[in-house]
Amino acid sequence: MKLEKVDVEILKILEKDGRASFRDIAKKVGVTTPTVSNKVSMYEQMGIIKGFSVNVDTEALGEISILLSVKCKPSDVPKTAEKLKEAEEVREVYIVGGSWIWAKVTLIDNTHLNQFISELTKMEKILDYEYKTIVSTIKEESRAVLSEGVNAVLSCFYCRKPMHDKPVKLKMDGKDHFVCCNTCAKEYKIKYEKLKEGI
Ligand SMILES: [Zn+2]
Repeated sequence: MKLEKVDVEILKILEKDGRASFRDIAKKVGVTTPTVSNKVSMYEQMGIIKGFSVNVDTEALGEISILLSVKCKPSDVPKTAEKLKEAEEVREVYIVGGSWIWAKVTLIDNTHLNQFISELTKMEKILDYEYKTIVSTIKEESRAVLSEGVNAVLSCFYCRKPMHDKPVKLKMDGKDHFVCCNTCAKEYKIKYEKLKEGI
C-alpha cells in the first residue's frame, strides 16, 4: 500500500499525540470520522502503527541513558543481540555490521549503571565494549520518516507473509482487508466470520 497524503497527515497527528480523537483528526485532515477510524485500524493491522504509547521523559525522571557498543565474533552477534534485548534497561538494539552491536540503555542511577556494566562484563562472548553517557538529547524522533508515496509492505492478514505483489482486497463490514492470494482469502473469510460469531 502506498501512503497517500491523507495517510501521512493522519499518521503525523497520531505520532505527535496518540490520544488525538478520530473526530479531531477527521476535522484537521478533512475526511469523515469513520474514514479515520477505518484507516487507523488498517494501519494497526498492517503493523504501521505498533501501538499507542505514552512518551515518558527519561531526563525528567533523572534517569541515565547510555549509548553502548559491544563487540563480539561476527558469528556470536545475533545471539548476543538477542540476549541484550532481554534486559529491560536495554531500550534499543542495533546490529551494525561486522562484529558490533549498538544499544541504547536507560538506567535509574549510577549504582544501577555500575551493576549493569558489571553484569555485561560477565556475559560470555563479549570481546569488548564501550559506552558513553548521554549528556543531553538534542533530537529524538521516531525512526519512521513519514512521507507520501512510501510503500508500506503489507502482510497478508491470514498467513502474515509480507506481500510484495498486489494484494487481494476484501471488503467486509465496510473495512478493507488484505490477503496474499485466493486461498488465504477463502480461509480468512471463514476465520473472520467465526471471530464475528464469537463476538
Ligand atoms: Zn496469505
